[in-house]
Amino acid sequence: MRKTSESVKSGKEEVVKSICRMCHGVCGVIVHMRNGIVVKVTGDPESPLSNGFICSKGRASVEYLYHPDRLRHPLKRAGAKGENKWKQISWEEALDTIAQKLLDYKKDYGPESVALAVGTGRPYQAFALRFANAFGTPNVVSYAHICYLPRVVASIITCGQLPICDFYGFGGVHPRCVVVWGCNISETGAADGMCGNQLTLARRTGAKFIVIDPRRTKLASKADVWAQVRPGTDVALAMGMLHVIIHEKLYDKAFVEQYTEGFDRLVQHVKGYLPSKVAEITWVPAQIIRQMARLYAETKPACMLWGNGLDESINCFQTARALLILRAVTGNIDVPGGDVFWIPPKGVVQTSPFMDPSIILPEMVTPEASARKLSAGQSLMNFVLRHSTFWDAVLTGKPYSPKVLIIVGTNPLLTASDCLKGEQALKKLEFTVALDLFMTPTTQLADIVLPAATWLEQDDIADLHFIWCVAARQKVVEIEECWDDKKIFIELAKRIGLKDCFPWNDVREYCDFVLKDTGLDFEKFTKLGILKGEMQYRKYEANGFPTPSGKFEIASSILDSFGYDALPDYVEPPESPYSAPELAKEYPLIAITGCKVEPFFHTEYRQLKSQRKRHPDPLVEINPATAKELGIEDGDWVWVESPRARIRQRAKLSPDIHPRMVAIQHAWWFPEEEPPEYGWKRSSANLLLDHRPADPIWGSESWKGFLCKVYV
Ligand code: SF4
Repeated sequence: MRKTSESVKSGKEEVVKSICRMCHGVCGVIVHMRNGIVVKVTGDPESPLSNGFICSKGRASVEYLYHPDRLRHPLKRAGAKGENKWKQISWEEALDTIAQKLLDYKKDYGPESVALAVGTGRPYQAFALRFANAFGTPNVVSYAHICYLPRVVASIITCGQLPICDFYGFGGVHPRCVVVWGCNISETGAADGMCGNQLTLARRTGAKFIVIDPRRTKLASKADVWAQVRPGTDVALAMGMLHVIIHEKLYDKAFVEQYTEGFDRLVQHVKGYLPSKVAEITWVPAQIIRQMARLYAETKPACMLWGNGLDESINCFQTARALLILRAVTGNIDVPGGDVFWIPPKGVVQTSPFMDPSIILPEMVTPEASARKLSAGQSLMNFVLRHSTFWDAVLTGKPYSPKVLIIVGTNPLLTASDCLKGEQALKKLEFTVALDLFMTPTTQLADIVLPAATWLEQDDIADLHFIWCVAARQKVVEIEECWDDKKIFIELAKRIGLKDCFPWNDVREYCDFVLKDTGLDFEKFTKLGILKGEMQYRKYEANGFPTPSGKFEIASSILDSFGYDALPDYVEPPESPYSAPELAKEYPLIAITGCKVEPFFHTEYRQLKSQRKRHPDPLVEINPATAKELGIEDGDWVWVESPRARIRQRAKLSPDIHPRMVAIQHAWWFPEEEPPEYGWKRSSANLLLDHRPADPIWGSESWKGFLCKVYV
């Protein structure tokens, strides 16, 4: 443990520097210990990633760590599924049972009969994917069709790597303009490896702010320009901005001429996106579109922080492409204070499969098994297996029946679409294992539940995907029989003949392996705390871009070769007042869901008193004028109904939401209520969703911008 001088002075008291992982964030924190017990977690003012910031989730880490309801021992089902009857078993018995089942099903039905389901990016991600590949199954169920990966892949095919905001000033310059698009990390804490505090610091250095969001977030209320975009239409807005930038010759001519491919086609293409037309599509006034375009193009350097708000729509992939093109034509790519391609620290093995897929051993899945992936042929660019595809296969046996599911750190009954079908599928599967910290509606339907560890119980080299450093996370305590997910996979691999693929005896050995070419072992690394890459800007001047043409591909040759539009174009969302006018008579409001709220991280932390006190009930945000028409008052319990289902949430009246839109909180369940359901069917927004893949390129579902009605 990396102790500071304070620990030496204070006898039994110690402080340990680490990296919080209560969300996607990266915040450097100080863990305060007394007599071997964690008593407090505070922000680390010396952390260059977060500069002392900590949110309520980070502070609640202690409550989470020692929560009385935590799973502390492996459990085996002792009644029917959902009866909540469990028998405590040893790790030996749990792992031996699971290993034998995996080997038996592989022998009898092939490796593809076993699937893994993973959650949002946590330290186990590479381990779970490596395990799936080493075992030989192509079936990994995930959220990558609606979260982050579309932006990563759009970036890779357009310019070779995900560009990230350069807030840190390593090049001697900070952004003078920041566009925040579909992202609210200044309120929720962090996302995609970026701490929300960076926005606060950018405001202090005088940056101009443009915020694009259907809701007037706190940041939007202070921004220089706020565009209240109609959900799902962001790509049209971006094309409208490009129209203004090109028409008014505000683009970076030198960069465009020398380093891009397809600009001439873009010039013709954006003629169809007059601001007046875009205003009709997006509901953003034409003068705001012009104002945003001018401010962004003329204030250099500028960076663009984008978020999950863009991913869940029919236009998901092309929206990401349009925002990349905006960055390029304004000359903000890989320049100090712009959107840059960070260089990771030398010698560190990349543990992010987004940076280096070889870490997950993709070659271990045979071509025959790959061809039997359940999502094969669904979408040319999409290698993701969506939950609904998996549930269908389990329930119908077509194209074949998966038999086993290993669920790692995810609660898909609440966070995936088609969740009632998911419940039936979980009941039907022949063998299910769940790794989690608490019993949830999902783990209740498993056969074996394994107790996982919090970030305070894990050693790790925090790799933040595409960021300029890796940072040390240190195990400071052990709670009974809770295990780090990484250890679970190492131990399981030993039992099924995959030791070659998981050659480490324990997690420490794995951490040493990651650092082996740095001259450090994990112990020494924890004393340093952070390893930085050496940044070089404008790498394209020497090397071009790692794309087929060697240029920034405004017109994508890869999309072209797959038969998709090489340039972004707008498509109306499938369930909107324009595409479904008859339906809109019955369901007149446009819904968004999935916006995070600060005390929680998706389904997590609802059992923490501190967090529930701050946010006791599920809330649907509705404009006061709309509420008045509907006879709804602030705090009323209301029905929110879509063409698929209805749920109960409390009305939160807010002028910050458009009168024709509502924002429905997602991932609600009530751990204090009776198992096995814990009340999840009452308020879970995902019951309302259309599970059909909408984006033809990426298979994203249309979770932002479906129709609903609200009533008492
Ligand atoms: S934003 Fe995320 S990483 Fe940062 S303190 Fe909060 S929970 Fe931890």
